[in-house]
Amino acid sequence: MSSARRPAPSESPKQADEGEPCPDPDTPVIRLEDVSVTYPGGVEALRGIDLTIGDGEFVVIVGLSGAGKSTLLRVLNGLVPATSGSVVVDGTEVVGASAATLRQVRSRIGMIFQTFNLVNRTSVLNNVLMGRLSVVPAWRSTLGLWPAEDREAAMAALERVGIVDKAYVRASNLSGGQQQRVGIARALAQEPGLMLADEPVAALDPVTSRQVMGDLQKINRELGITTLVNLHFLDLAKEYGRRLIGLRDGEMIFDGDIADVDDDTFRGIYGRSITDEDLLAMGDSPTDGSEGG
Ligand code: ADP
Repeated sequence: MSSARRPAPSESPKQADEGEPCPDPDTPVIRLEDVSVTYPGGVEALRGIDLTIGDGEFVVIVGLSGAGKSTLLRVLNGLVPATSGSVVVDGTEVVGASAATLRQVRSRIGMIFQTFNLVNRTSVLNNVLMGRLSVVPAWRSTLGLWPAEDREAAMAALERVGIVDKAYVRASNLSGGQQQRVGIARALAQEPGLMLADEPVAALDPVTSRQVMGDLQKINRELGITTLVNLHFLDLAKEYGRRLIGLRDGEMIFDGDIADVDDDTFRGIYGRSITDEDLLAMGDSPTDGSEGG
């Protein structure tokens, strides 16, 4: 992911004659070899995962609750240590890496969370600026002395997700969908080579969920940032994924093109028939009581 410099959030998408950045499966950003994770207490959350993800891919990971989706994302940034195997991210071995190496790897990974993880009492802009923490000395950020270029990068990230007009609003005053866009903008401000989104729409209503997935897809296409998204809803996975990975009881039982996915594939991943609750369109998803955006 660092082999070629990516456009910063402030830069325009590539011109039409250049075309969109194409995923390059031959340049792996992520390579897992025989990765297993056993948590203290004995739960085997991942079992023998082999996986290669190329530069610029958009990958959706599905599986029942407890299948190991979050654990898979967390072994990539070292938040959960692999019990065995090898996890290489952008050419760096994460398993057994020093704290300094892990910090460096994490500085290039944007994380997006189900519950947004914003600081509610401060402004949207300050939340997004937190994405710049890995490049700005701590004393400057503590004093609120953000260099102009960081402020510009943060505003550009907000513009990219369509909420630049909310920059000076307190984060707690936004709707759920807008808060998730702040989360995406914060990740973008980091100028990441890799975006990991852990159930990013689980707390949103269907309309807002599609808008947020659309934002992630657009960012992947325009900036070429390799993106992995854990999803619970299968129709959303089919609508937005290009490549689908299916986990069941910690094992990867499907890895392929979304075009080859049908109901049998999903039944195999879930180990049962698909119900309305597995689909966003019909699912009993919570609403955040607001918006359009
Ligand atoms: P998913 O994201 O697909 O819901 P997880 O990766 O969160 O799955 O969990 C996989 C399995 O690991 C589950 O059985 C879960 O209960 C267990 N697990 C997750 N985190 C921990 C932890 N910190 N300690 C012990 N067990 C855990």
